[in-house]
Amino acid sequence: MAELVGPRLYSCCHCRNHVSLHDDIISKAFQGRNGRAFLFAHVMNIFIGRKEDRQLMTGLHTVADVYCCDCRQVLGWKYEKAYEESQKYKEGKYILEKSKIVKENW
Ligand SMILES: [Zn+2]
Repeated sequence: MAELVGPRLYSCCHCRNHVSLHDDIISKAFQGRNGRAFLFAHVMNIFIGRKEDRQLMTGLHTVADVYCCDCRQVLGWKYEKAYEESQKYKEGKYILEKSKIVKENW
């Protein structure tokens, strides 16, 4: 029954909507609003809120909140633009808070 073993996923902790793949994690060493957060290359089944400039620990960024498309909880944010050269790698990437997602298929 090996074909039933799917990719390792993360789901929304409220509604179990699948929001990201373990393989898309770039870094686990990020800080969210409420503790640890992960940086992802891709997420799915989400929608993106209004862009705004936010002063983060690593400098000024343009970010947009990321919401679960089912239950509309805020799960994290997307980096739209980084102003510091050293932070440019985060552009177009997503932060999901560890406390807002749960492991699926592990
Ligand atoms: Zn949800």
